[in-house]
Amino acid sequence: MPRQQLTPDEVEQLGEATGKIAALAAKALNRTWPHLAVEDLVEQFTRDGALEMIAATYLGGIERGRTPGEAAGEAGTALIRVWADARLEARARLDAQRAEDPATEPVVVCTCGTSVHDNDEARRGHADAWHSEKSPAVWGPPVIRGRATT
Ligand SMILES: [Zn+2]
Repeated sequence: MPRQQLTPDEVEQLGEATGKIAALAAKALNRTWPHLAVEDLVEQFTRDGALEMIAATYLGGIERGRTPGEAAGEAGTALIRVWADARLEARARLDAQRAEDPATEPVVVCTCGTSVHDNDEARRGHADAWHSEKSPAVWGPPVIRGRATT
């Protein structure tokens, strides 16, 4: 059930607002992590699930009496939080994987701070998830976990 009935004008405004929020969130993240390409982030933020979340948060803000600007800010913050959580989860999964593996298996560390096993599949998996042709993953030399702590 929709929370409120939107007029066609409002639907159009909402569509514009969600697109803008996704673009602003992508730019904000790109400023913090320049190796994350804005286009990749926009692509992630304009998937259906993300747009629905932006729209729901934005409308929720408006319903609570926020100005459109404030509601957009809240929606952008919520979007980044969800994105960051998903990213942390992915990293935690990697860590868990690593914990199960023999300690002698070398890992490589990307410039973005993510470490994966030193094999093509793991590198490609990370590059596909977090990088693009324009901002490729850049790997340091292989290290054996436990020996290379700084
Ligand atoms: Zn990376």
